[in-house]
Amino acid sequence: MIDPFGRSITYLRVSVTDRCDLRCVYCMAEDMTFLPKRDLLTLEELDRLCAAFIRLGTNKIRITGGEPLVRRDVMTLFRNLGARLGESGLQELVVTTNGTQLAKMADGLHEAGVRRINVSLDTLDPDKFARITRWGKIDSTLDGIFAAKAAGMAIKINAVAMKGVNEDEFDSLIAWCGDHGFDLCLIETMPMGDISGDRTEQYLPLSIVRSRLRRRWTLEDTDYRTGGPARYVNVAETGRRVGFITPMTHNFCESCNRVRLTCTGTLFMCLGQDDDADLRQVLRNGASDAELEAAIREAISRKPKGHDFIIDRRHDRPAVARHMSVTGG
Ligand code: SAM
Ligand code: SF4
Repeated sequence: MIDPFGRSITYLRVSVTDRCDLRCVYCMAEDMTFLPKRDLLTLEELDRLCAAFIRLGTNKIRITGGEPLVRRDVMTLFRNLGARLGESGLQELVVTTNGTQLAKMADGLHEAGVRRINVSLDTLDPDKFARITRWGKIDSTLDGIFAAKAAGMAIKINAVAMKGVNEDEFDSLIAWCGDHGFDLCLIETMPMGDISGDRTEQYLPLSIVRSRLRRRWTLEDTDYRTGGPARYVNVAETGRRVGFITPMTHNFCESCNRVRLTCTGTLFMCLGQDDDADLRQVLRNGASDAELEAAIREAISRKPKGHDFIIDRRHDRPAVARHMSVTGG
């Protein structure tokens, strides 16, 4: 699938639930209302949509959420998608998770074919972890991370950079990731959804972080890419990579190869724009595979050039009203 700007769309991110067992301050309001079950695609519908994307050239699928591993029976979806790895053109099945369920699910994910996993961990301090996630226990995430490592998966830690919250911890996160053989990816806060707080207070440009890190670490440029928006450097002292996702300070849209499917079957062609395609309606109207593929192609033909995220004091409203947990981070 080629979009109007000549970008080849090969990467599908699928949010399988809007629910989560945590309430990270930058992601959700404390009193979130979640979608009624009837609005959600069934696991069979999700699988059918993924299969259609694979037929159209998708070679990488990321399962995300909300917290994907709290969706009931989600392992069935992983097994079905994992069975499509290889011959069908699907090359990678990956997951983004907060790690709380990984201790019990890591082996099953590996058996299904998941070889790389992103786990969100913004701090190594248990009290701060509880504050950021509003009630999470760091040990459940840490146990999950080490279960995934033991199962044989490559691990990338995602940390959202927050001014005055975890900005003093990036050195220790880099050292910790180095000790355990993990890559680290730092993310700028994006203005998505009402979070009952002020995002300008949290926003920390990664350009500042990067120059601070250079005081302690030797950061070597690399052209390593995972097909995502992160720009990586090698940390000479640890031998691991650190990535920077900078939607706010750097336009990362030129090389965008992805679209995002929500748990209700809405396809968003851009994380930062509102235009979408309702694939649930297409499915539930009894579409044939050919009709489903036509609907997907039509959506791709509307993929916009890029996002217009802005955070400053004059723009204190979210750029898009939906939360990251809906579109899938
Ligand atoms: N629950 C899983 C997790 O936390 O990894 C998967 C979904 S979560 C929405 C995916 C990623 O988005 C997480 O790394 C999270 O830190 C990040 N995220 C959530 N809201 C964000 C925001 N407003 N700006 C930047 N990153 C955000
Ligand atoms: Fe849940 Fe992930 Fe959002 Fe945190 S970032 S509230 S773990 S969906």
